[in-house]
Amino acid sequence: MRIVDVREAALPLSANIQNSVVNFSEHTVSLVAIVSDVIRNGNPVVGVAFDSIGRFAQSGLMRERFIRRLLAAKPGDLLNDTGKAFDTAKAFAVMMRNEKPGGHGDRAHAVAALELALWDLNAKLNDEPAWKTIASHFGVQPSARMPVYAAGGYYYPEGNLSRLQDEMRRYADMGYTKFKMKIGGASLDEDLRRLEAALQVVGAAEDLAVDANGRFDIPTALAYGKAMEPFALRWYEEPGDPLDYRLMSELAAVYPHRLATGENLFSRRDVENLALFGGMRKGKDLFQMDPALSYGLGEFYRMIQSIEANGFSRRDVHPHGGHMIALHIVVGLALGGSEAYPGVFAPVGGYSDECVVADGGVAPGLSPGFGLEKKADLAPHIAALAST
Ligand code: MG
Repeated sequence: MRIVDVREAALPLSANIQNSVVNFSEHTVSLVAIVSDVIRNGNPVVGVAFDSIGRFAQSGLMRERFIRRLLAAKPGDLLNDTGKAFDTAKAFAVMMRNEKPGGHGDRAHAVAALELALWDLNAKLNDEPAWKTIASHFGVQPSARMPVYAAGGYYYPEGNLSRLQDEMRRYADMGYTKFKMKIGGASLDEDLRRLEAALQVVGAAEDLAVDANGRFDIPTALAYGKAMEPFALRWYEEPGDPLDYRLMSELAAVYPHRLATGENLFSRRDVENLALFGGMRKGKDLFQMDPALSYGLGEFYRMIQSIEANGFSRRDVHPHGGHMIALHIVVGLALGGSEAYPGVFAPVGGYSDECVVADGGVAPGLSPGFGLEKKADLAPHIAALAST
């Protein structure tokens, strides 16, 4: 068995929305297809994946380094001992050949998309959903479904408060019971008015989280913490720079409610430092690393092992993502939950029709792999890439 071709296409994301730091309308995502020489029903078995939402495609990095190395590898360098599945750890080592440690930028997303496509390919070769492949590979009892919340609450150019309330109402009508909104894109006073407006729709503060997207310095993070403390919100996410462990630990020392961070940490070592030096409180605070941004499932699993070794639970891991790949990984590894971005970030954001959100949760279907071909808006892009 061998890889015949590896293809990549940069897709635009459909989202003209804004958080405290970025506007998503310029963002793109790399969709990748790894074509094997295994033929089923007249067609090659193809592994498909993408890197995550809220960043940019890595077409150049992939073509110049990672795809080239995969295609140059001998088949035996990429297969497991049985020869019947691709060994994702070996493939990771092949892709990372000649790469220095550290400096985990876009390289981590490029490798992630390719590594995840091999997981999709392995699941398809086994004719089973990816959550099952993942659970049996890591020896985990998988969850039946994934707790999910609607992440949104963006800033709008006009009619901010009423549009925010409309947005939350729309999510509730879709079956979501937990919500998240952006903060940090306006003054503290205005953000408090937005928070109160959202709570009028959401109801209980314990069902509403806030996300500053890494915007604040230490004084601002503390000021927001103090002002929001009486609400007792579900959580306060990514207050400062992802690597500012001092900010997190100073905030955790005074803010009594749950904090969450980690979606912009791309390596096991960075996550271990967060666990050791970021003031994270066991049984309370959440880790949000995203396997599709951080070298794929192998490195993501090392992150989980690292936080578990430091006394945290994998139930406190809620990956960033809001897509099918995160869903399969959360279920397969029995993690705490993930997010959804209803109605935005098409074609990669959101779940396929066989994965219905109900009662605050969503279950993956039984389609082979990550089931991306079952997503109506993504399927044409996959078909185009597979038939190139
Ligand atoms: Mg976030």
